[in-house]
Amino acid sequence: MKFPIFLDNMSTTRVDPRVLEEMLPYFSEEYGNAASRNHPYGWKAESKVDESRTRISQLIHCDPKEIVFTSGGTESCNLALKGICEIYREKGDHLIVGATEHRAVIDTTRRLERSGFRVTYLPVDKTGLADLEALKREITDKTILIALMYGNHEIGTIHPVTEIGKIAKERGILYFCDAAASQGYIPIDVEAMGIDLLALSAHKIYGPKGIGALYVRKKNPRVRLAPILDGGGAERGMRSGTLNVPAIVGFGKACELALAEMETERERLWKLNEKLRTAIESSLDYVHLNGHPTQRLPNILNMSLEFVEGESILMGINDIAVSSGSACTTATLEPSYVLIALGAGVELAHTSIRFSFGRFNTEEEIDFTAKRVVQTITRLREMSPLYDMAKEGIDLKNVTWKRE
Ligand SMILES: *Cc1c(COP(=O)(O)O)cnc(C)c1O
Repeated sequence: MKFPIFLDNMSTTRVDPRVLEEMLPYFSEEYGNAASRNHPYGWKAESKVDESRTRISQLIHCDPKEIVFTSGGTESCNLALKGICEIYREKGDHLIVGATEHRAVIDTTRRLERSGFRVTYLPVDKTGLADLEALKREITDKTILIALMYGNHEIGTIHPVTEIGKIAKERGILYFCDAAASQGYIPIDVEAMGIDLLALSAHKIYGPKGIGALYVRKKNPRVRLAPILDGGGAERGMRSGTLNVPAIVGFGKACELALAEMETERERLWKLNEKLRTAIESSLDYVHLNGHPTQRLPNILNMSLEFVEGESILMGINDIAVSSGSACTTATLEPSYVLIALGAGVELAHTSIRFSFGRFNTEEEIDFTAKRVVQTITRLREMSPLYDMAKEGIDLKNVTWKRE
């Protein structure tokens, strides 16, 4: 085993050696600009980019022409939200956005609010599922876009995108889905799911960092989008800039592999997930699963281990690389807004750990992790007066604390 064991695959993944191999010639042998029309350097680059577009489109069931390359998931979310708002402003000024969306969405809609758009943040239930009745109620004739992600990056909960797509279609509203955490792990079919815009990112599926795509529907309806960047007019005018050919090649290969291996990998990851969960639950009390018990990405296990701060757990298990629910977004110890949105309370958010598994994790690593976590939590709780009190049956919510 190689230490620290990497169980933070939702933050990023290792580039698959097969992806790297496919990329390498495009740095210093086939280095043409895919937009150069006058010589074979350009033609070769363009044809390889086209192949990648096709591979990506096969993962999500769209036409290759509907893929717009960006610098990653964050840019794709920005482009979808800002690009739609600019074009459709005359039609309406209202957006409906999930409360547990990625910061790439939430921070963008906060900015849009400052420039005059109205945003409804749609609540979720305690498993992280969006309230679809509330969604229907919140739609007005000024609503131009619904933004609800597929699988959640922190808790793994999978939204019922087909139902959401149907609701959006019935009301003639565009549906943007952030699939950066879920692409390649669970099936996506933008046609069957009624998705109009979809954000993708390569580095979550063993591709390189700094490359992603936005799917933009071309018909029924034809979605229009204002670009964020001006210049040149590449990618159907939606995203200027010379294409990052090696990264695009890697992204395409990563999608091809993800699609080919999805079914077997999904099952294998679930097994690892269940293995770790049951090992922890059978040896420790006061543990909670955050997220949906079954309608969840196979590669995420988010648990709160009461009475021990996430940061102390991370220090205690420093031979395992994971994320905690309190520090995962910034340098400050703010509790995760995703966990807060579940109604879990600040304590549960502060004691949460996100394990995220990937292609290169083994059963042996999970066994080691389970042992280490149980050992560490047991040791840390021995030092916790709160844990002692809870064990004695004192209800901590009714205790009044006195300052000396
Ligand atoms: C990782 C992620 C993003 C951001 O993608 P980058 O390529 O890292 O910019 C956006 N949304 C979700 C759900 C993600 O998991």
